[in-house]
Amino acid sequence: MRLMTLLRPLLPRPAGAAHWPSQCLVCRAWPAQTLCADCRSRFAPPATRCQRCALPVPAGVAVCGACLREPPPMAQCLAAVPWQWPWSLCIVRWKFDGDTGLSAPLAALLQATPGVTEALATAELVLPMPMSPQRLAERGYNPALLLARQLAPGRVRPDLLLRTRHTPPQRSLPRAERLRNVRGAFQVDPLAAPALRGRHVLLVDDVMTTGASVREAAAALRAAGADPIGVLVLARTDTPAGR
Ligand SMILES: [Zn+2]
Ligand SMILES: [Zn+2]
Repeated sequence: MRLMTLLRPLLPRPAGAAHWPSQCLVCRAWPAQTLCADCRSRFAPPATRCQRCALPVPAGVAVCGACLREPPPMAQCLAAVPWQWPWSLCIVRWKFDGDTGLSAPLAALLQATPGVTEALATAELVLPMPMSPQRLAERGYNPALLLARQLAPGRVRPDLLLRTRHTPPQRSLPRAERLRNVRGAFQVDPLAAPALRGRHVLLVDDVMTTGASVREAAAALRAAGADPIGVLVLARTDTPAGR
């Protein structure tokens, strides 16, 4: 094992993988799953989250005060992990550095979140959060689509919800501007709207920050008649930005 550790940087990497599938990306245990069981239980402990927006809430609370005052368009929102180390590191590699081999272990992390299996079992259509054609061209792939395909092969419809306006990355903007930034950015293809009417739709996203994009996308789906609408996100920023 020691010899392998020394040799590893010299050996060719497996085709299509920017990491070693037999080594845990977080703790470097080897041989292990890409995200080993120890790291998953250590860094992704079960958390009580608001059913509607996935922000942390005290035990016994189902819906946070903000969602009670102003119910979001989605009936349910489930998040696997908080947006913090080590998940932020894994997601940045997967999302920005082209390590698409992480789609399967990250999808497994989401699938292990309480409620996700049930949501996937009842959803009729699974939609990835769309990217603008400009951002898709820059990055070459939509991580949310890779995630959705892992979660619900055969039920993924990337063609129904469109991002009709290119917007600056949300992470670069303060809260008030994030809300303005995504207003009207999503649209259901008018020809596809009948496919959504009365259907149980699950929207899949990689990272949720203020939730402004997810709300806007869910509102577009609701306007097209989708009902109910659920959201699955891999990582959630645990403090409402700007508060
Ligand atoms: Zn590990
Ligand atoms: Zn809430």
